[in-house]
Amino acid sequence: MAVEVLESLKQVAAQLGQTVKLHSSVFILTDRNVWDHYGQWLLESYPREDIYILEPGEGSKSLHAASVISDWLISRKVSRDSLIINVGGGVVSDLGGFVASIIKRGISFVHVPTSLMAQVDAAHGGKNGVNQAGLKNALGTFSVPEAVIVSPEFLKTLPDRELLSGFAEMVKHALIYDADYLAAIAEYDLGERQLEGLGALIERSIGIKCEIVAKDPHEHDERRLLNFGHTVGHAVESLSLNGDANPITHGEAVAIGMSIEARLSVEVGLSGQEVVVHTRDALTRLGLPVYHPLLIDTEALLSLIEGDKKAKAGDVRWTLLRGIGQGVSGVSVAAKQLLSAIQSCRLELSA
Ligand code: NAD
Repeated sequence: MAVEVLESLKQVAAQLGQTVKLHSSVFILTDRNVWDHYGQWLLESYPREDIYILEPGEGSKSLHAASVISDWLISRKVSRDSLIINVGGGVVSDLGGFVASIIKRGISFVHVPTSLMAQVDAAHGGKNGVNQAGLKNALGTFSVPEAVIVSPEFLKTLPDRELLSGFAEMVKHALIYDADYLAAIAEYDLGERQLEGLGALIERSIGIKCEIVAKDPHEHDERRLLNFGHTVGHAVESLSLNGDANPITHGEAVAIGMSIEARLSVEVGLSGQEVVVHTRDALTRLGLPVYHPLLIDTEALLSLIEGDKKAKAGDVRWTLLRGIGQGVSGVSVAAKQLLSAIQSCRLELSA
């Protein structure tokens, strides 16, 4: 899989032009927000009838949406040689990759990630999927895009809250793999949103993710490192999506998950208190949350955690930290240790 980080949208269009030459027909999947900003740019190269525009948000990451898009592709005479280009955030890449990997038993696809979350994480590694029965990513496939074309220029129009969401996954990459990278993230001036500096951070995150995935593409071992923050994160995200009028973003959920799971690393005796302090400081400096009131519903939380796809015969294996930059996977945790980690976070915040 080729990953290219390009400076301008002109370069992205040129690169896409080279890729589409190899295919009999091309379809674009995007969402309405991205369309509002980049519709004209897309129309310079692709006819409107070959572009499908989704409703933005996690609600579109569903089997229903996958079915509607499949109907549309079939009505447009999609063939084994067609190409789908997913232009959008992680919802578009997860859903578009999923549809591409099953239609006609799998056709080629390219990701053009437009959110920071998708540029540093979701578009890489070949995990595609949709949510089902209230569970995040309950249905999915492993299928690798033909190329991922990244340009920080898209981030000029990304809302602040969505930019922060992407930073949560960047902090995760640093915490599990590279302590120096955590320092580099801390130095970045978020207020300035300087794209050149951000481009270097994006490249480092892509490097970490791709290095880990290359060692273990189907997540039997090393790739589980990338799940740090996601066991609690996915559970709290599901609770929020199922109940909140203004649900938390994926990155906010991962930030809350990392804050609790850093404490859990101490609870199980893997690391010292400095891991909690560094994790909390990295997140709060950026303005990311470290706790959510929904964590108080421990029964619902534990039930979602046990239903998480990473659970093996009911025995959840956690990815925790041995130190900063040192993730460790396959850790067993007792329910009372998790509850104690949540309580210590709550007590510290209310003190
Ligand atoms: P998203 O796709 O919902 O995008 C966030 C918001 O930003 C949306 O409203 C979108 O319309 C808008 N947006 C995107 N690009 C924009 C731009 N350039 N300008 C203006 N608005 C823009 O969510 P996300 O945070 O990108 O991704 C979250 C999803 O990714 C979750 O479903 C998560 O589970 C998934 N994910 C998958 C992986 C993986 O390995 N497959 C990894 C991380 C996250």
